Amino acid sequence: MRHQVWQRLLRRYLMSGKLPPVISRRVFLAAPLIGIPYVARAAGAVFDADVIVIGAGAAGLAAAHELLRLKRKVIVLEARGRVGGRIFTDHSLGAPYDAGAFYIHWAEKNSWTRIARLHGVKTLDEDEVQRNGRSFDRGTPPASPDGVTAWDKLRERLDDSKARIADISMLEFAGGEKAAAAEGALTMARLALGDEAERVSARDYARLWAGDDRLVPDGFGTILERYAKGLDIRLNTPVNTIDWGGRGVRVTTPDGTINARSVVVSVPVGALQSGSIKFTPGLPSINVAGLQGLGMGASTRMALRFDGARFGLAPHTNVRLRLSARQSFSFGCFDWNRDLVTVYFGGDHAREVIAMGQEPACAHVLDQFAGVMGNDVRQHYIGGRLNGWWNDPWSCGAYSHALPGRANAREQLAEPVGARIFFAGEATGGTGGSGAAITAGGAYLSGIVAARKAAKTV
Ligand SMILES: Cc1cc2nc3c(=O)[nH]c(=O)nc-3n(C[C@H](O)[C@H](O)[C@H](O)COP(=O)(O)OP(=O)(O)OC[C@H]3O[C@@H](n4cnc5c(N)ncnc54)[C@H](O)[C@@H]3O)c2cc1C
Repeated sequence: MRHQVWQRLLRRYLMSGKLPPVISRRVFLAAPLIGIPYVARAAGAVFDADVIVIGAGAAGLAAAHELLRLKRKVIVLEARGRVGGRIFTDHSLGAPYDAGAFYIHWAEKNSWTRIARLHGVKTLDEDEVQRNGRSFDRGTPPASPDGVTAWDKLRERLDDSKARIADISMLEFAGGEKAAAAEGALTMARLALGDEAERVSARDYARLWAGDDRLVPDGFGTILERYAKGLDIRLNTPVNTIDWGGRGVRVTTPDGTINARSVVVSVPVGALQSGSIKFTPGLPSINVAGLQGLGMGASTRMALRFDGARFGLAPHTNVRLRLSARQSFSFGCFDWNRDLVTVYFGGDHAREVIAMGQEPACAHVLDQFAGVMGNDVRQHYIGGRLNGWWNDPWSCGAYSHALPGRANAREQLAEPVGARIFFAGEATGGTGGSGAAITAGGAYLSGIVAARKAAKTV
């Protein structure tokens, strides 16, 4: 098939009397990967695409769509065998649940609300859903009333003084190690960012947008799967190197090298920090500083499957189990009347649970659930699934936060490199005064911004 294309092209050029374009050895090598010989030329260079997008998550898909709208040839390279990245609806337990993102945050201005509607995916206001279930707390020791009050106070202070907040850790901002204040800060950082309060910048956190949340009964991942249709996406194609030493960029994968005028890199901060992509020449110091100024939290979702038993719990009941100021689990029980309990936890505690490995981690969390609901739950347990984003090589964490003293890190990372490498992704979603970082909505916005810059590369 590919040979026929080549023959047709050659015949056309011979008949036109014009010389065929220079076909480099690189283009030949890349042919199996790209499927067509070349699409774009600039003086002295032949490109396989105008823009290569690395990563088919929220940011990468948004960038690819925007580039198509701007009439650019775009190829998306994705390491995993699926699209969606950290937005993934897992069906492995026989019923769908979101293993990564599950809320459409600040839904009134979030593009995923509009895209869901466009693709016929139902979304529901969270308040409407939660009214059907009741929530309760358990714990040894129980949450101290002072800690809960401290959390509320902290939230108010963060909301009230956004712009004036010093670039210090959330723990320090809350009032240091004083027991109640520390408890409020630790809980907030762990639940919202998946990390410990001493490691997150209060200023970075305070900038984040708030708003109404919507839920997606069929799974957030469903939206991305539909949104990805029609794009030129190469799955199972991890990028190893980005060479920006000459004209344009040369991107190498195990399947070969392809080149383009520019590249949008929407790979998570954790994966970039792990060095899985080598930049040649190395990244400028400003981007390196940006990467060093960001951390990845360990927010984690697990699901436990039961045989239909409900243990007296109505759908959408939320059971919060507090083991200590730094250890807690949140059990979302039988959402949408499915036989699943989804479990949310974060921080160093989550890192420890993930390190146990799939089966022991599920058994451990089942023990915790049995501790609250009684040993009877064990007889009805069918199986569990841990999604440990923290040790997944394509994310190396859940989502980003700026480290104390490094609230400018997102801007630094987003700085264009040589007018041809443009970073996108949730980590850069909060740049330019936006509070969209860490979210799927922010990832979308960052993809649009990066695509518009990349489209200007000649
Ligand atoms: C447990 C959890 C809960 C969350 N809850 C919410 C929520 O409720 N609401 C919300 O808005 N956000 C939530 N988030 C955050 C949200 O998932 C992310 O902000 C968003 O999905 C990030 O999109 P992205 O495109 O920036 O990155 P990703 O989705 O990670 O996409 C990057 C892509 O790059 C690919 N990749 C990595 N390395 C390479 C390589 N070398 N070559 C090629 N491809 C590569 C990855 O496989 C991935 O597909 C949650 C995240 C987690 C983990």
